[in-house]
Amino acid sequence: MSAYVFHFGGGARNDDPRAKDKTITGGKGANLAEMAGIGLPVPPGFTISTEVCAQYNTAGKQFDADIKAGVAAGLAHIESATGRVFGDAANPLLVSVRSGARVSMPGMMDTVLNLGLNDVTVEGLAADSGDARFAWDSYRRFIQMYSDVVLGVDHHRFEDALEIAKEDNGYYADVEMSAENWQKLVGEYKAIVAEELGRPFPQDVHEQLWGAIGAVFDSWESERAKVYRKLNDIPADWGTAVNVQAMVFGNMGDTSATGVAFTRDPATGEKAYYGEWLVNAQGEDVVAGIRTPQYLTKAARERAGAKPLSMEEAMPQAYAELAAVFELLEKHYRDMQDIEFTVEKNKLWMLQTRSGKRTAKAALKMAVDMVGEGLIDEATAIARVDPMALDQLLHPTLDPQAPRDVLAKGLPASPGAASGAVVFDADTAQARAERGDSVILVRVETSPEDIHGMHAAKGILTARGGMTSHAAVVARGMGRPCVSGASGLSIDMASRKARIGNREVAEGDLITLDGSTGEIMAGEVPMVEPELVGDFATLMVWADKHRRMKVRTNAETPLDCQVARQFGAEGIGLCRTEHMFFEAGRISAVRQMILAEDEAGRRAALAKLLPEQRADFIAIFDVMAGLPVTIRLLDPPLHEFLPHGDAEFEELAEVTGLGVDHLKRRAGELHEFNPMLGHRGCRLGITFPEIYEMQAQAIFEAAVEVALKSGEAVVPEVMIPLVATKKELQILRALVDRVAAQVFADKGKTLDYLVGTMIELPRAALMAGEIAEEGTFFSFGTNDLTQTTLGVSRDDAARFLNPYVDQGIYPRDPFVSLDIEGVGQLVELAAERGRKTRPDIKLGICGEHGGDPASIAFCEKVGLDYVSASPYRVPIARLAAAQAALKA
Ligand code: PEP
Ligand code: MG
Repeated sequence: MSAYVFHFGGGARNDDPRAKDKTITGGKGANLAEMAGIGLPVPPGFTISTEVCAQYNTAGKQFDADIKAGVAAGLAHIESATGRVFGDAANPLLVSVRSGARVSMPGMMDTVLNLGLNDVTVEGLAADSGDARFAWDSYRRFIQMYSDVVLGVDHHRFEDALEIAKEDNGYYADVEMSAENWQKLVGEYKAIVAEELGRPFPQDVHEQLWGAIGAVFDSWESERAKVYRKLNDIPADWGTAVNVQAMVFGNMGDTSATGVAFTRDPATGEKAYYGEWLVNAQGEDVVAGIRTPQYLTKAARERAGAKPLSMEEAMPQAYAELAAVFELLEKHYRDMQDIEFTVEKNKLWMLQTRSGKRTAKAALKMAVDMVGEGLIDEATAIARVDPMALDQLLHPTLDPQAPRDVLAKGLPASPGAASGAVVFDADTAQARAERGDSVILVRVETSPEDIHGMHAAKGILTARGGMTSHAAVVARGMGRPCVSGASGLSIDMASRKARIGNREVAEGDLITLDGSTGEIMAGEVPMVEPELVGDFATLMVWADKHRRMKVRTNAETPLDCQVARQFGAEGIGLCRTEHMFFEAGRISAVRQMILAEDEAGRRAALAKLLPEQRADFIAIFDVMAGLPVTIRLLDPPLHEFLPHGDAEFEELAEVTGLGVDHLKRRAGELHEFNPMLGHRGCRLGITFPEIYEMQAQAIFEAAVEVALKSGEAVVPEVMIPLVATKKELQILRALVDRVAAQVFADKGKTLDYLVGTMIELPRAALMAGEIAEEGTFFSFGTNDLTQTTLGVSRDDAARFLNPYVDQGIYPRDPFVSLDIEGVGQLVELAAERGRKTRPDIKLGICGEHGGDPASIAFCEKVGLDYVSASPYRVPIARLAAAQAALKA
């Protein structure tokens, strides 16, 4: 037997641990083996491992003899388990062929159902099932799906032919089609294939099977799969497995059905079975959004006020069996499961189970509930929630007080609120989003080809499709608000207009969606700031218990500081003082300072700035009372503050009494070819010490004032930027100490403070041992450290970094997620050398990477004392730091 083919179901014994390893048999294959192993009813089948995907895609799309023998043995297993024979005229075996990567990629790869039907076996299926209508319906489904997926014939041609057939017969729904109608349509379908391809639809069942297996492996390389992989950081070399499984039929009449279900509500996390099903249908009918499915439970049906019976009411016995399976699966996997099932003539079959995708809100609720139920412990709960998903909850929601002009209502498919301009196709969504517009993608239904538009959109609205439709599943995965199945919506693509309720909406008009209620509103509805309460707060308390690193914030306004404190920031890791220079009322004093001809001129301008800076620091220290606050002295090149355009120069001339020409000449003198490598950072302090003196004075005077006023002082940590040498820090530290001593003497009060440096140049990292002699803390400025180590300008990288990531040169944008391999070495080395000189040196990170979970995990490994992130990332960083500590 091939080492790459694994049997499951039908009594197959499989003790090989690789069979249940997702990296080998993919998520779907591993879980089918697992379910069969715990005695659940799984149709027999076999899985071709993910390793074969890579072999096939690199070996010229060929299968070797070993795989061929493995597939033959797999088929023999299914034949003996079912008592059917593949391609047999009287007793034909039909199979499904499905993809299954290590992680689920909903709708991204291909599936073929009902494989094994041809002009001969269809008769056998009709005779054997006693249902010719079912047999011919299955055959036409197979031709359509196989032709679309494997042969590349556009599915619209088949859909059009079906619509015409229904029209000709005066039918409204597919169920009205008779056996003869389907049989006739099969003839038309075959003619379409022959016309499109110049050859007939394949009748050899083995040719069909190999075609489908190849197509599934090919689909790993499809454009949409590549886009999805990129969005979700899935490596290209993982590959997909292929699952070949005996068909069971949900479309064998009214005692048959098919459905998808979650063991808990994936949108809210509520502990209630949740799902959709359709009588007399195949699985694709539920997920494709073609027929609107029915509710699984009576409670859900009643809550929605829907008429068609729930499965609980219509098929009580199969439902009870299913409910028992839900319980068993949750206990076994200790997690919410997303399930596909089929009922064939009242017999329940399990087709899939996997850990279900969920919204951030649901993830939090389930994690907290399951700890309460004793199903998992706190550490597992912490590991269950994706830190980046919390971002969904850290954004504004609709103001409950604001008036809402509700146009219509659909299903609340993915929570959150979004406002934006209506667009009707994915390309337009992407194009407008790139121009900076907020857009809402409005479609009849979405398909995997729309994925780039869904990602670009702020929200998604569809006319068709249930809560488990493609739009709903993908939107929840991406954290985009989504309203699906809005029956009050119709779209006219020709005029690019829609009717929503009884109002006309043109492309570009503003609407607002509430994905938590399903409401669609005209215009833009005001939003309110998020709060950290309930399950979110509980999980954060657990995270704080388990993390080692502190979490600080990068903030420079009292409002940002307040937000960050509410989100649990334990101090400020970076206060960029230059942002304060830009404020109206002071920029002209800043410009005066920069353009001054000499020290006396600079000092005069700085004297105007001193009270303003002091007031800024007082406001920040008030908010951050009791916590450490790292303040960085001026960093950017001075020309960033210069006037732009004649009007600003004229204004400045008036304030300074200097001529416009004179000012323009001084400004010209400040021009730099490489400002990022120019006169910035501590180089400003070395050349114009009076600037840093003023800032230090403002800091210490503010700290003393707040300490005297409230009794609860902050500990100012004065940070010198862009240091490369010990000498720079030595000179500037002496300056800061001198100013501090002066202020303390003047005010009659002494305070604790620290002086340290950023490590943001490779030389600083290399010389960290020496530099640590002069500073008591290091803060890794990984924005500049990335820029200078890679030799890539942080301001220009966006123009060329994308292709770099696409080609795998860097696994992720190194300005977003730390280049651990390269830049990480410098961080590690600097930490080590710094500690050698000064064992208690305080180490933190304040570049953008301080809010990125993968980078945070690295910081834990290096043993940093804290990470510092922007205010809205603080909860993300708290959770990521806990996960990192628990993994260590
Ligand atoms: C850095 O370089 O990482 C940093 C935090 O400083 P800035 O982004 O202000 O240059
Ligand atoms: Mg920097």
